[in-house]
Amino acid sequence: MPDTYTTIPAAVPASVLEAIHRVVGDKGFTTDVREMEPHVVEWRDNYHGRAAAVVKPANTEEVAAVMKICHQAGVPVVPQGGMTGLTGAGIPHEHGGEIVLSLRRMNRILEVNPLAFTMTVEAGVVLKTIQETAAAHDRLFPLSLGAEGSCAIGGNLSTNAGGVQVLHYGNARSLVLGLEVVLPDGRIWNGLRALKKDNTGYDLKNLFMGAEGTLGIITRAVLKIFPKPKDVATAWMAVRDPAASVELLSRAHEASEDNVTSCELMSRQGLEFVFKHIPGCADPLEGRHDWYVLLEWSSTRAVPEGGTGMTERMEAFLGALMEEGLVLDATLAQSTTQAQAFWKIRESHSEAQKIEGPSIKHDISVSVSEIPSFIERGIAAMKQVVPDLRPVPFGHVGDGNLHFNAQAPEGMGKDEFFAHYGAINRAVYDIVREVAGSISAEHGIGRFKLEELEHYRSPVELDVMRSIKRALDPQNLMNPGKVIRI
Ligand SMILES: Cc1cc2nc3c(=O)[nH]c(=O)nc-3n(C[C@H](O)[C@H](O)[C@H](O)COP(=O)(O)OP(=O)(O)OC[C@H]3O[C@@H](n4cnc5c(N)ncnc54)[C@H](O)[C@@H]3O)c2cc1C
Repeated sequence: MPDTYTTIPAAVPASVLEAIHRVVGDKGFTTDVREMEPHVVEWRDNYHGRAAAVVKPANTEEVAAVMKICHQAGVPVVPQGGMTGLTGAGIPHEHGGEIVLSLRRMNRILEVNPLAFTMTVEAGVVLKTIQETAAAHDRLFPLSLGAEGSCAIGGNLSTNAGGVQVLHYGNARSLVLGLEVVLPDGRIWNGLRALKKDNTGYDLKNLFMGAEGTLGIITRAVLKIFPKPKDVATAWMAVRDPAASVELLSRAHEASEDNVTSCELMSRQGLEFVFKHIPGCADPLEGRHDWYVLLEWSSTRAVPEGGTGMTERMEAFLGALMEEGLVLDATLAQSTTQAQAFWKIRESHSEAQKIEGPSIKHDISVSVSEIPSFIERGIAAMKQVVPDLRPVPFGHVGDGNLHFNAQAPEGMGKDEFFAHYGAINRAVYDIVREVAGSISAEHGIGRFKLEELEHYRSPVELDVMRSIKRALDPQNLMNPGKVIRI
């Protein structure tokens, strides 16, 4: 991918690196090229940068001291969590004049308060650890996504991550009560309040969430946790077409008494890649169908003895839909292991596509009711550019969010396929704009969609974003060349 950072900074002076080294100590500092390598390469290898140093502070005060030094010396900083982002936002540029600030050593759970349904954490805690900690207290932290074993909560909040339960619990932004942030000049903003209601002027925390590290460094957060579901039903089904998935979701809300937690749409093409490349994944149904849905209902009420629960309700619901022809075939998970097997198929889509070869990805959202026509029009538009490309639309149908991906035609190499990158993007995003959708539903902008944001957002929106960036980071030192150019 080309370097989009227009102002190349001077090399970082040795005196600055020494000052940073003194703050974080040997455990938190390296300039060794081999040790820095894992911090400069994007996991899909779309970006390969360089850094003057990788710095891992142990606490907020060290982050603040490092930021103060960088501010005074004019050194740009790239914050990093688990490095699972999909927009290149956490990778330094190729010029090597930036330092990487990784939050990995700040990985403590500071407090769990089951009574108030809150958990206070440092930014480097891995998402899965937060989920497990909540579960150990009979609570749920509902943010859930394919990279949960590696991504860190600071990265989740900085990208305002979505995942598979947004439908019921909202995205990362809705799971936060308070934040602590180190500003680009090294000042600490302590907004670590556990308040549900707080109308004291502008909502600062929401500025930093979704900013992809361009406005400040999130160091700690107060998260919302929820009652743990006691009765979960998971079904894998073949549906007539995408319109049937929208219809079934709309009816599922009532049938489940508003307990739909996930509704994921997949195509046969996506499944073929998963079965081909991911060991241990098998088709839950016998026949071949064009479209599939993974549906999950969760209730916090345990099934009373001898009573009926979510599974029986879902069974009756699906039976009725099968009679109507919306659902063609279905199977309900009989155990947690079987439910996990269904989820593995869904969660392995990105990995399988990566192994299959080059693909061009779009993370779009439209109104839920627009999904069927969007899929039809979007596929036709992409095929006008490359007739033999293999469309792989899948995703969070309940959020109107599709990963609208195009796999290269069989045998076509990356260079040849990527020559059509711009044209394929334009074909898809023009339809997104026409139906008032978003060109980035959950992954963010980073470097990957910088030009697209400038193309598709209005001058007023871009102007407001630039004003905010200039106000907080006048020297453009916080993750420059990502999200918005000033
Ligand atoms: C297999 C797979 C599945 C995925 N599924 C989903 C999905 O369903 N939904 C979804 O939304 N995303 C998904 N993602 C994308 C990714 O997991 C998320 O964007 C995740 O939230 C990134 O977290 P991270 O810790 O890896 O952040 P990183 O990749 O390290 O960083 C992401 C951005 O946040 C910034 N940043 C990191 N930490 C901080 C901090 N403490 N303060 C300020 N800025 C910071 C970085 O500079 C960068 O701009 C998926 C990724 C993979 C690999």
